[in-house]
Amino acid sequence: ILNDLIRAEKMSVVSHLAASISHEVRNPLTVSRGFIQMALQDSKDDQSQQYYLDTAIREIDHATDIINDYLTFAKPATEQHTVLHINDEITHSVKVLQPLANMNNVQISVKNHLHDEAMLKAERKQFQQCLINIFKNGIEAMSEGGTLTITLSEQLRGCTIVVEDEGYGMTEEEVNRLGEPYFSTKEKGTGLGLMVSYSIIKAIGGSIKVFSSKNQGTRFEITLPVHRK
Ligand code: ADP
Ligand code: MG
Repeated sequence: ILNDLIRAEKMSVVSHLAASISHEVRNPLTVSRGFIQMALQDSKDDQSQQYYLDTAIREIDHATDIINDYLTFAKPATEQHTVLHINDEITHSVKVLQPLANMNNVQISVKNHLHDEAMLKAERKQFQQCLINIFKNGIEAMSEGGTLTITLSEQLRGCTIVVEDEGYGMTEEEVNRLGEPYFSTKEKGTGLGLMVSYSIIKAIGGSIKVFSSKNQGTRFEITLPVHRK
C-alpha cells in the first residue's frame, strides 16, 4: 500500500511537469546554438571546431530524445478516449521499434492469448507512447542482443501485457525509483519515458508491477481494464 501511495504521488507530478517540458527542450538547444556560434568564430583550429560541432549535435539529439519520450504531453489532450483494439496497438508499437531492435540484435516476440475483440478505452497516441517507452527500455537494456517477449493475456476483469527482457536488469533501489521524473542511469537518458508511461497507465485505470534482477532481466506487468460491448 505504501508503494502504491508513493507511486500515486509520483504520478501527480506529471501535470506540473507538462509546463516545464518546453524549458527542458530549450536548454540543450541553447547550449547547441552556443557551440555552433563558437565553431563559426574559432575558425583557425580544426580540432576544436570538430569538438564544438560534435557537442552541438549531441545536444540537439538530447532535445529530440526528450520530445520523443514526452510527445503525448507536449500536445494538449484534445483527442477523446476511443475504443482501441489492444492487438493492433501492440503491433503498431512493435513496428515503430523494429529498427532499434535490429540495431541492437534484439528479437521481438509477441505471444498473443487475447480474444480478437479485446478492447481498451484510451487515447490512441498516448497508449502507443506508453507501450513504446516500455518496449524501448527493454531493447536498450539488451545492447548485446536478446529477446524482448511481449505476452498478452485476458482475465475476467481485465487484460495483462507482460514485457520481459534479458537485459542488464536493475537493483531493488533502482526499481523503486522507476517513474520518478529525470531518474536515468543512461549516459544519454531523459528519465522521462517511464514517468510518461506510468501516468498514462494511471489515466486508463490500469496498474503496473516491475520485477527485475541485476544482469538477469526485467519484467513489466501491465494490467488494464478491458472494454466490453
Ligand atoms: P531513460 O530510458 O531515458 O533513462 P526511462 O524513464 O525510460 O528513462 O527509464 C528510467 C531508468 O529506468 C533507466 O535509465 C534505467 O535505469 C531503468 N530501466 C527502465 N527500464 C529498464 C529495463 N527494461 N531494464 C533495465 N533498466 C531499466
Ligand atoms: Mg527510456
